[in-house]
Amino acid sequence: MDKLRMTTPLVEMDGDEMTRVLWADIKETLLTPYVDLKTVYFDLGLRHRDETEDQVTVDSALAAKQYGVAVKCATITPNAQRVEEYGLKQMWKSPNGTIRAMMDGTVFRTPILVRGVRPTVRTWEKPITIARHAYGDIYRNVEMAVPGKGKAELVFTGEDGTVQRSTIFDFKGPGILQGIHNLDSSISSFARACFNYALDIRQDLWFSAKDTISKVYDHHFKDIFQEIFDAEYKAAFEKAGISYFYTLIDDAVARIIRSKGGMIWACKNYDGDVMSDMVATAFGSLAMMTSVLVSPDGKYEYEAAHGTVTRHYYRYLKGEETSTNPVATIFAWTGALRKRGELDGLKDLSAFAGRLEKAVIDTIEGGIMTGDLALIYEGEAKAVSSRAFISAVRERLENS
Ligand code: NAP
Ligand code: MG
Repeated sequence: MDKLRMTTPLVEMDGDEMTRVLWADIKETLLTPYVDLKTVYFDLGLRHRDETEDQVTVDSALAAKQYGVAVKCATITPNAQRVEEYGLKQMWKSPNGTIRAMMDGTVFRTPILVRGVRPTVRTWEKPITIARHAYGDIYRNVEMAVPGKGKAELVFTGEDGTVQRSTIFDFKGPGILQGIHNLDSSISSFARACFNYALDIRQDLWFSAKDTISKVYDHHFKDIFQEIFDAEYKAAFEKAGISYFYTLIDDAVARIIRSKGGMIWACKNYDGDVMSDMVATAFGSLAMMTSVLVSPDGKYEYEAAHGTVTRHYYRYLKGEETSTNPVATIFAWTGALRKRGELDGLKDLSAFAGRLEKAVIDTIEGGIMTGDLALIYEGEAKAVSSRAFISAVRERLENS
């Protein structure tokens, strides 16, 4: 059989620990036998990041911007313990944070559904995608403890010296204070990324905040979304048969829980942090959550939502066979290949991505899965090692 041709390479960002092991196995067993895989390879493994003083992360993000589609393996975000374990020159920043900042992107997280792994919420039939704003609010806050009686004020001094001032509170005793901010440019990028993604996957877009209480701050988010929608996206949404609306966050929560799923829910930074964990857990497993970073100008970086699965890796190093779930990492590859196929007009490449995803789902629904899923699967499940699971997927693919 002739291998599928690619015209533009994918930007490949290799990573760490157990996911690095799975990465190589997925490529060898499920991709290179079928696709004449073209990638521009970057080794984001911690050792190589350290050797290059993290330049490799910057280079990989530049390549993602240049080529338009990247696929990333999970990577270690170093902490003090990792600095010691790897003898690092310094505590390098989170690669995801660096890439996100350089691509000015929004992260969309979507669960992979299989029959037999039932969402905790009975009505959910289709995946719910959370789009989380990744800049500002409490993640860039300034806060302080107030020792006692005194007046707290919000003061803005313009470049020209004009001062805006309002009283936050007249403290009669001790308390706490916090200052947060956001930027029109960042909110606009977030809005455009959400509108583009909704058009891309043809699903309704919801955006929620608390504008009834936060009449300037949250209201500003709502206004920017609406202005950009009306000016740039309204016609395209009508044509695609999808809708956009804003609703209060409490209303959104109530409606999401009663819904069948199948929408994109855009959230402010903190709301997105909390709601994505809730949605992932309620759908079944972190190991079944995909993640894609989309820049406002339509560049994509696909990855799994979970980390490098360190606990399994230490067992693997001792020579044990592990049962680490490779599904989200496989779907990172299929997401990237499908997008490359769409952009380059390679229908067969996109179709292959679909066949591989189907082979994965069919394998699980056929009762073969990794241990994490076997625990929550309703039906007869055979828990197998990562390697045996990937082989079983290969067998399905051969027969599809
Ligand atoms: P993790 O790697 O997601 O793993 C946490 C636990 O969740 C695992 O120990 C395992 O539970 C379960 N799990 C996660 N993915 C699984 C899979 N594919 N198959 C089976 N079980 C899975 O998170 P972590 O242990 O907090 O972080 C480990 C490293 O990953 C850290 O260095 C962190 O910096 C990094 N990280 C990277 C990313 C990223 O690159 N996007 C994201 C998060 C974390 P059991 O041990 O109970 O089986
Ligand atoms: Mg969180």
